[in-house]
Amino acid sequence: GRPRVVVVGGGAAGATVARHLALESAGAINVTLVEANPSYTTCFFSNLYLGGIRTIESLRFGYAGLVSAGVEVIHDLATGVDRDNRTVTLSSGAVLPYDRLVLAPGIDFVDGSVPGWSIDDAEIMPHAYKAGSQTVLLRRMIEAMPQGGLFVMIAPPNPYRCPPAPYERACMVANLLTQVNPTAKIMILDPKDKYSKQTLFENAWLQHYDGMIDWVNPEFGGADVEVRPATMEVLIEGEAQAVDVCNVIPAQRAGAIARIAGVTDDTGWAPIQPDSMRSAVDPAVWVLGDASSAAEMPKSAVAANSQAAVVVQSLLGDLAGADVPPAIYVNTCWSALAPEDSVKLGGAYEPADDHIASTGSFISRPDEDAEERRLTYEESFDWYDTITADIFG
Ligand code: FAD
Repeated sequence: GRPRVVVVGGGAAGATVARHLALESAGAINVTLVEANPSYTTCFFSNLYLGGIRTIESLRFGYAGLVSAGVEVIHDLATGVDRDNRTVTLSSGAVLPYDRLVLAPGIDFVDGSVPGWSIDDAEIMPHAYKAGSQTVLLRRMIEAMPQGGLFVMIAPPNPYRCPPAPYERACMVANLLTQVNPTAKIMILDPKDKYSKQTLFENAWLQHYDGMIDWVNPEFGGADVEVRPATMEVLIEGEAQAVDVCNVIPAQRAGAIARIAGVTDDTGWAPIQPDSMRSAVDPAVWVLGDASSAAEMPKSAVAANSQAAVVVQSLLGDLAGADVPPAIYVNTCWSALAPEDSVKLGGAYEPADDHIASTGSFISRPDEDAEERRLTYEESFDWYDTITADIFG
């Protein structure tokens, strides 16, 4: 019969693979997508929702476009992978056989990475780093802050999804607060001593939100932080600080099913072959998106979507004997600093001996004028429409 490909995870990585594999193989490959949720809310642009620029509904996508492309979509959690017998087990008890498996489960959080916080505390101190109800909760909490209140973010250590996103989030929270609570303060407690697009963000904080945002680096206790959800306190170098909102973004690792499948290493991420995104430990498995160790490529939706194109060609070559073009990867991450003011960062990547290596990069200049920033802002909206159409049809 037709070769069976099972894709686990219907996000930026997995949905792109499933849809394009079904379309490009024109029915010659049986493609099944296993996705836990009936709809997908994009993390990308979720900061713009926090900032009052987008609605949450505008970030939500269903899977009808995949079904009409010929993908069999199963909404269930994959709970087990038997690589010897090539099967995936679902929480319903169903067992799906595969010839080739694609794992694209995104991220999970590292237990205990922020002392005092566990995933059970996410209703009190939200992460909002998987979009949906967490993002809505965080926005409600921001809107309910007392006048002059304090919003604290615990920023994550490297590597994590979307390196500029915590700092874009600070901009967008500040954009909302300047309208509803102009004396409120934002404090970012950071375990890193530098971060993505730092100069551009620091300039924006001065230009648009002067005095509102305070970035606390490790030298001043940003790395020595503990939280107390029960009393809404943050301990900085042992000293208690009362907070009104606390956004805890923990350390991250590959989504659990990658570890269950035995394709992650002791970094918590899945090593891959750089020319194909094929798992380094099992040639019948591909891992892509945030869950993979893509070396110099950041964890972004654009990166995941670009890796997906490589995976589709690799699978068509493997299963249908098609010629496989050389792998080329790209990334661009836009960040909204304020309405009509965005910056971007990007690059191109190619396989090197044992990893994916950068072949060139670009970043917005600090001295750009307002018109150039406005064009970048508008470009980001076009990008959002283009990439979500490519992922979901
Ligand atoms: P995901 O998109 O998270 O998809 C994983 C899917 O797998 C989920 O739908 C999940 O439900 C499903 N899943 C997991 N485990 C299982 C299982 N066992 N069984 C069934 N289903 C499962 N990127 C950009 O390019 N540009 C941006 O501007 C940008 N902004 C961001 C802002 C924020 C605040 C955040 C948090 C991220 C941002 N990103 C951005 C990053 C981007 O969202 C991720 O890099 C991207 O979603 C990764 O795609 P993925 O498919 O690997 O994972």
